[in-house]
Amino acid sequence: MQKPLIVITGASSGIGRAVAQEFSRNDYPLLLLARRLDCLDSLNLPNTICRSVDITDYSAIAASLSFAEGQYGTAECLINNAGVMFANSFHEQTPGEWEQMIETNLKGAINCTHLVMNSMLKNNKGTVINVSSIAGKKGFPMLAAYCATKYAISGFTESLRIEAAKKNLRFISVSPGYTETELYDHTTNPILREDYKQWGRAINNILFPEDVARAIFFAFQQPQHVCIRELIIAPTEQTD
Ligand code: NDP
Repeated sequence: MQKPLIVITGASSGIGRAVAQEFSRNDYPLLLLARRLDCLDSLNLPNTICRSVDITDYSAIAASLSFAEGQYGTAECLINNAGVMFANSFHEQTPGEWEQMIETNLKGAINCTHLVMNSMLKNNKGTVINVSSIAGKKGFPMLAAYCATKYAISGFTESLRIEAAKKNLRFISVSPGYTETELYDHTTNPILREDYKQWGRAINNILFPEDVARAIFFAFQQPQHVCIRELIIAPTEQTD
């Protein structure tokens, strides 16, 4: 029997890419969303629809979701993973940077959740996994606006978890620590970009995207009556 559709945002690199590979290895059909279509296509996964979508664009997500659900049935799991991080001292940060973080990390996740939730409620089944961060649990200097988006995602996840619990929907928050991805390259301030990479290099054995992907799949594959509400995963040697 065909397994249900899984929607993954930000699958063109890093954690999202590894999550797509993990679910595909387990035979799930996928809808993958990100702006770089060539990176999504290069995954070359079976039963997978790749769409170049900016997740700040509600109607573009809706059109892709409707196409994928026409092919594979309603989505049973959404993984809100897409995100951007611009490190800078707050007084030097530009509005463009915090707007992009809020639009992508928060509004993008809200858009996608709103679009999958009606069918999940009708089906009395569904799972939304939001990729937050340790920066959604504690503040970090140079990351004030980024941390704000991740704290917000935690509040969003926890509120919806309670709101939809009696409808058999699971809302799960996954908070990774330092993971080797392109995330640290977004920072426009070259000194801080290097500082963050140095911080990572100072931790022996940082996480690979595949480590986080396995944890996400572990949470998803629990029986529907089991909700791992929150999962924090970090390199063993990361102390903050
Ligand atoms: P990457 O930069 O490798 O991946 C980010 C993904 O988000 C890319 O696929 C990118 O695709 C996508 N994306 C960004 N903006 C948009 C947009 N507007 N619309 C659609 N897709 C978008 O970083 P990570 O894999 O590290 O990040 C994944 C998540 O993990 C993020 O939410 C991040 O905050 C979180 N995280 C990462 C940690 C780390 O140490 N790496 C630690 C804690 C949390 P494209 O550019 O093609 O649109």
